[in-house]
Amino acid sequence: MAEKIVAEQKTQDIPMPEPRRSVAFIGSECYPFVKTGGLGDVMYALPKALIAQNCDVKVILPRYRCIPQKFQDKMIYRGEFWMDLFADGRRFYVGIMEYVWDGVVYDFIDNEEFFSSGNPYTNLVDDMPKYSFFSKAALAALNYMNWIPDIIHCHDWQAALVPIYLRTQFAGTPIAGAKTILTIHNLRFQGIYWLPTVQYWTGLPGEVFTIDVMKQSYADANMLKGGLAYADMITTVSETYAGEIQTPFYGDGLDSHLRHHAWKLRGIVNGIDCRQWDSSSDEKLPAVYDCSNVIEKKKENKLALQRALGLREDENLFVIGLISRLTDQKGLDLVNSILPAVIDGNTQVVVLGTGDVQYENAFRYYEDAYRGSVCSCIMYDEARAHMIYGGSDALLVPSLFEPCGLTQLIAMHYGTVPVVRETGGLKDTVQPYNQFTNEGNGFTFDRYEAGLLLDAINRAKTLYFTERGRWDEMVRRDMEKDVSWDQSAERYRQLYLELKP
Ligand code: ADP
Repeated sequence: MAEKIVAEQKTQDIPMPEPRRSVAFIGSECYPFVKTGGLGDVMYALPKALIAQNCDVKVILPRYRCIPQKFQDKMIYRGEFWMDLFADGRRFYVGIMEYVWDGVVYDFIDNEEFFSSGNPYTNLVDDMPKYSFFSKAALAALNYMNWIPDIIHCHDWQAALVPIYLRTQFAGTPIAGAKTILTIHNLRFQGIYWLPTVQYWTGLPGEVFTIDVMKQSYADANMLKGGLAYADMITTVSETYAGEIQTPFYGDGLDSHLRHHAWKLRGIVNGIDCRQWDSSSDEKLPAVYDCSNVIEKKKENKLALQRALGLREDENLFVIGLISRLTDQKGLDLVNSILPAVIDGNTQVVVLGTGDVQYENAFRYYEDAYRGSVCSCIMYDEARAHMIYGGSDALLVPSLFEPCGLTQLIAMHYGTVPVVRETGGLKDTVQPYNQFTNEGNGFTFDRYEAGLLLDAINRAKTLYFTERGRWDEMVRRDMEKDVSWDQSAERYRQLYLELKP
């Protein structure tokens, strides 16, 4: 009897092999091919993290002309077919170009007519037929390649029509058995266009143009709204943001729709790719470092940054970085109103970003007014971003709203202390410094007020200038914090298993 119990226990100890899940990622950007923001980073890093966790992943992207030639040259022709799209029945060419890199298969949907403009997004009505075409062509390409995934993981409004096409025009085709997840990376962008235009260009049946699916108002249709209704599961990129978007302030007009679908809404925080962002081997850093020598080496990086940007060279100054799209979302009106109070002879500010002209001009003005203390790099430059993460003491992220935010994660991983507003993913990933217990990863403030941002910066400066030992401990703590994709990729994998047991 005792032997039998032992034998039973032994069989229980042997881990059951978990079923392998196949996932098709469909989205409009992916580093290093094309990236305008955090979506590009996630489309690059999450598939890699999922492959490490025994998933099969294919990433489907538009073949934009702006993808660097070195990648275009490596793409292999996988096939072509013609597909109808619009209500007039006109047929369009769909080419499939494939590129396999680091275990991930990237399939690029080729069509000159839609993807030949310089920037992926024009913010004009052209984007609507472009991403309708892309969403439908991605599903048709999966059928064409006979690669039928368990899960189709769609990202943002550009791929939001995928769940709708799947359950309407693709019902009864091989791909129809797949389950869909729609991830919201930023609810601000929804793909809202004039209703008759969307009806015409998508060719979708009348049943999806109702108020509980795509119809937004008398005049408009909302592509994201429709996708949220049809997706089997909705995720967004932090737990706090998943709650926030169900409120009128953060819901961008979709809060009641999201509350209605709250039963299938989850928040899973993003991570960063720790191979792409590795301060111990980063070729873009003047001096590489790890946790053991960060304090010394960061000074070298700071001096190199100051030299490169024409700032006063002094390792004792407090250098604050800001790497951001320059838009209303990012809290730049707060930064603009307090910048003169931040520049005190001991502090320097380095800005890297492009965006709305009023912010670009305001930062140009400050560079001019505080020459040697402020540098405004109005550009998109990956290499410079690495130098700023490596050479700054603190990084500002005072966003009005922030679904997850990657810059604070990269900053912590590079030993740069974040100063953030407590919203969305910033709240979930930066633990506020507690001066009594000497715990925490950064400095935070809650209400969207310039005075509170200034107070948070001043608390950071006070610790830096008066208790450097404690500051240095926080720098090391930040570097040791797990900001990788491992845990979040595991949560996505569990979600895939839940959808397809
Ligand atoms: P969002 O997606 O809202 O733009 P995130 O914080 O999620 O913001 O992601 C921003 C990403 O883009 C980070 O990898 C950041 O380093 C990068 N980035 C933003 N602006 C620039 C810039 N001007 N030059 C280089 N990288 C930038």
